[in-house]
Parts: sequence; C-alpha cells; structure tokens
Amino acid sequence: MSELRDLYQELIVDHSKRPRNFGRLPDFNYCAEGYNPLCGDKLKLFLKIDEEGVIREVSFEGSGCAISTASASLMTQSLKGQTREKADALFETFHALITGPRDPAKAGKGLGKLAVFSGVSEFPARVKCATLAWHTLRSALHDKNKVTSTE
Ligand code: ZN
Repeated sequence: MSELRDLYQELIVDHSKRPRNFGRLPDFNYCAEGYNPLCGDKLKLFLKIDEEGVIREVSFEGSGCAISTASASLMTQSLKGQTREKADALFETFHALITGPRDPAKAGKGLGKLAVFSGVSEFPARVKCATLAWHTLRSALHDKNKVTSTE
C-alpha cells in the first residue's frame, strides 16, 4: 500500500512541476476562471469543443499549490477527446472520490490516473485544491455567462 502511495505522490509531484497542457489555447470557444480563496489557487481553463460536443483541445493557466496544479494537469489529459457528457460524468466520479464516503470497491472506477487523488479525501483542507479545476470545468461547460466565443 505504501508503494502505491509513493507512486501516487510521484505522479502528483511530476504534474505539479511539469504541468501538461499549460498555457492559453490560441483558439478556444469555452473558458472559465476558478479561484480557491482557502489556498490562493487560481486557474483559467480553455476548451475547444466541436459541433459534435467533443472536447478537441483543453488547456489551463494560473498558479497554485502542487495539488491544484497537478489536478488541473491530469484533468486536461483525461478530457481530451471526451464528449461533454463524459466530462460531466468524470466530474461526478472525481468529486465523489474526493469528497464522498469511501467505498473502496467503487472509488475511482473509470478514473484512470485521476484516482491518484483519492488520498486527498483524508485531508479536508486540500479537497478544494484538488477539485478547483473540475469546478472551473463545470462552469465553463454550464454557466452561460462564462462562455467566451472566439468566432
Ligand atoms: Zn491549493
């Protein structure tokens, strides 16, 4: 179990130091900003979604703690090529993993690498760090006021 934990830690450290999909997309049609006042994490999310509702490109920029940066980085990786519906489903599963009552049999099912954040549920103060990118995703996809069109 501790080996698994080390592996998880490594992945989080790696993504916080070298975040993937970092920077503003040149061409995006959805965007939202998120802020976690408890920790000071800030991020802006950019999405390019095609007519079929498939997320073609996704990136983020901002600054925050290791957990928030790694979570945003891993989230962008898992969103590419997914439909909006799948993105919503991932939000629910991820949110349940981090905040819900632990159900080891189900926890993290279908989340792939995102399951590395399961340990965060033991640290309530860091939950908002891990979920910031996801809440920002949700507002980009659902809050009409936040939708920015480049066309
Ligand atoms: Zn944080």
